[in-house]
Amino acid sequence: MMADPESTIINSSVKQKDPKEALVIAVTTRAIFNLEKEHEIFLTKGKDEYVKHQQANENNPLEQGTAFAFIQAVQFVNKRLLERNPEEKRLFDVIVLSNNSPESGMRIINSAKQHGLEISKFCFVSDEDSTQYLKTHNVKLFLSADRKDVCNALQRGISAALIFQQEIQAPTNQLRVVFDGDAVLFSDETDRVFREKGLEGAIAYEKSMESVPMGEGPLKTFALHLGKMRNKFDREESPVRTYLVTARSGRDMGIRAIKTLREWGLVIDEAFFMDGAPKGPILSMIQPHIFFDDGLHNIQGAVDVGVPSALVPCDCSKDGKAHITM
Ligand SMILES: [Mg+2]
Repeated sequence: MMADPESTIINSSVKQKDPKEALVIAVTTRAIFNLEKEHEIFLTKGKDEYVKHQQANENNPLEQGTAFAFIQAVQFVNKRLLERNPEEKRLFDVIVLSNNSPESGMRIINSAKQHGLEISKFCFVSDEDSTQYLKTHNVKLFLSADRKDVCNALQRGISAALIFQQEIQAPTNQLRVVFDGDAVLFSDETDRVFREKGLEGAIAYEKSMESVPMGEGPLKTFALHLGKMRNKFDREESPVRTYLVTARSGRDMGIRAIKTLREWGLVIDEAFFMDGAPKGPILSMIQPHIFFDDGLHNIQGAVDVGVPSALVPCDCSKDGKAHITM
């Protein structure tokens, strides 16, 4: 997609983004690159062996991880924004937040360069909780392969999701982002009613609450910022496309969802009310760069069709021992 890595790097140094206006996305190294083998060395042989391995392979670029295509698509949108207006300040800005020490981080920097990724900042921090830097950098979305990181970020009020290493299909240039509804864009209030009172109870609740907008979910802030990017373009020529794919039925539970989006001023290009049907088939048609959901079965369905997935954990307050197997 990015033709010439060199020109990208030069371009980025010329067009320094304004951190106050940019839409900042922070990714960890294990979200953007495939570091499974290296992580295994870290876990089984310890930090020193890991650092040695990374130094010995300094010029050997890492393979793409699950969030790679998303970051590449974000760069494509930047390119389109600058073509439209060379003075554009409101661009995507990608930073890498890593628990690597600077001496093992060289491979990360080299890999980003060789893949032509436009990363404005590399932060190699050894703190127990590196998410304390997210607010300072004005981060609006944080993607990590570490559940604790994600929970810490969510507790700081930052849109965040958990990335698993997976096989992905190469999507199109146009940045496509799919959001689940309940417990992702919206709060989990209806989920809770559903768990307590079943489907009938949830439908009755939604009817009685039809004119009351739902609460904010963990990804709402990011979705609003993404929507502003989307709105810079006409629908036909937009390099950004947003989707809602929810298990809700349109007939019984669609109205409140649509009213809530309207109330927030959040324009979603396409909405699919699946009435409990599996999401995999529709996701495989949309071919998004990232799909946010709080349900492991939905994440699994997306992984099965090669769609890059990000879990928004809804049980952070618990110790978070839950594991996903895929
Ligand atoms: Mg949900």
